Amino acid sequence: MKTIHEPVRATPLCHEADLCVVGGSCTGVFAAVRAARLGLSVALIEQNTVLGGMAVAAQVNDWHSISDTSGQRQIIGGLTLEVIDRLRRRGVVEEISPVHRSQFRFNSAELAVELDDLVRTHRIRVFLAARCVAATRENNRVTTAIIEDRSGRRAIGARYFIDASGDGNLLRHAGFAAWKPDALQPVNLQAIVAGNSTADGPVPWNDFQDQLAAHDYPAANGRPWHFPVPGSTGLTNLFGARLNGVDASDADDHTAALLEARRLHRAYLDMVRAHPAGLKPVVVAWAQALGVRQTWHARCHHRLTGDEILRGQTFDDAIAQGTYPVDIHSSDGTILRYLDGREEVVPKNAPTFWRRWQPEGAPVPACYHVPYRSLLPLEAENLIVAGRLLDADREAFGGVRVMVNMNQTGEAAGVAAALAHRAGHPFSAVPAAALRATLNAGGSLLLPAAHPPSQTKE
Ligand SMILES: Cc1cc2nc3c(=O)[nH]c(=O)nc-3n(C[C@H](O)[C@H](O)[C@H](O)COP(=O)(O)OP(=O)(O)OC[C@H]3O[C@@H](n4cnc5c(N)ncnc54)[C@H](O)[C@@H]3O)c2cc1C
Repeated sequence: MKTIHEPVRATPLCHEADLCVVGGSCTGVFAAVRAARLGLSVALIEQNTVLGGMAVAAQVNDWHSISDTSGQRQIIGGLTLEVIDRLRRRGVVEEISPVHRSQFRFNSAELAVELDDLVRTHRIRVFLAARCVAATRENNRVTTAIIEDRSGRRAIGARYFIDASGDGNLLRHAGFAAWKPDALQPVNLQAIVAGNSTADGPVPWNDFQDQLAAHDYPAANGRPWHFPVPGSTGLTNLFGARLNGVDASDADDHTAALLEARRLHRAYLDMVRAHPAGLKPVVVAWAQALGVRQTWHARCHHRLTGDEILRGQTFDDAIAQGTYPVDIHSSDGTILRYLDGREEVVPKNAPTFWRRWQPEGAPVPACYHVPYRSLLPLEAENLIVAGRLLDADREAFGGVRVMVNMNQTGEAAGVAAALAHRAGHPFSAVPAAALRATLNAGGSLLLPAAHPPSQTKE
């Protein structure tokens, strides 16, 4: 590829803070809030015009179980719970049984306003519509995150940095090691649609099997799925077809996926319009961002494995815990492996069925755990990652990637930044016991590090 050489430029240092967080999903916001509550001045950089990441801009509006595998003990608290309480007060969260995979379905647009309120009340300096495009570094310390926003190109300096961008934009710009798996989880685009449901719900997918070819809708993309928008009447959040083989950190792949996803939505809605049910659905709004499950991971001091999460391996430095099954989407469909030994198989175009991956009576862990070391990039002194950028193999990532878990990694990164700042330490020197104790003092529900690794299901 030909290259051009831009003139060397001087970039204004527009802001300095104790901590700078790149990426304003709930992960990044929760990191910023936890650090601010412990006295840090915090800058938060988000490329979208709203906070909330996938939960808002991509309308992924489902938070999974916050209980252990028995459904009796709550294991996730902190800001996840605080935000759910806020959404409850607005009447914009639908609550489902705690042992079901999904526990809370919320209104994404309302969540955005709650996050605005959280950053405002914690005096966090927010940069919206600001993309981190470069970084400066001295030895193993990041010195600035460079943004481009409506004012041009500007630098933000800080003593500590958190990369919660999902794609590792700060990490990679600063030159720390990252990796990408061969097979990435698929992307989807969501849309708010009106008039898509009869009194009995959406038209069954099977009714369209003979129409797919005529509408150029490849069966391999699978069916869209539908959730009512909590707090609305008659609006559906339509999760579009899965697009496989897309690397959303590649600009051309990303653009092509957006165009194809909108075309597939239109093809699907045309099939609904042609159906004898007589519906005339229309798209009211497109999600502001493509739904991206996976791109880059940081190379960290520990790569979490599928075996560790399915066995409920405990860690002295555990900073997050969850029960969401290992859920890997592929072009053949989805297989969900639950901690209790069951496996749910959702083929592309056939009914769901259940089987076991563990025999009946095998030990069932209460939950799995994410160690702090899986957030610590190799060599980096004052940079930590949070969210889906963490280091986890394909199977472990299939479970831990969901938001009730990622939210906790954000809180842990924010608290770690406060402890590191207080002591003047690198992130790697933050004592695990102090980190866990401070997290729990602030509302997290981390189990004792030495709790029994598993329990036999009665
Ligand atoms: C279609 C789909 C369905 C899903 N279903 C569920 C579900 O039901 N429940 C569930 O819990 N999870 C679900 N997930 C997974 C979940 O949404 C993600 O794993 C989770 O949101 C990851 O959180 P994150 O904070 O790491 O990343 P993101 O939510 O991706 O947040 C990253 C943030 O960083 C910002 N950013 C990126 N680069 C830059 C930059 N250079 N400068 C500034 N800002 C930047 C982004 O705009 C974004 O706001 C689903 C995902 C998809 C795509």
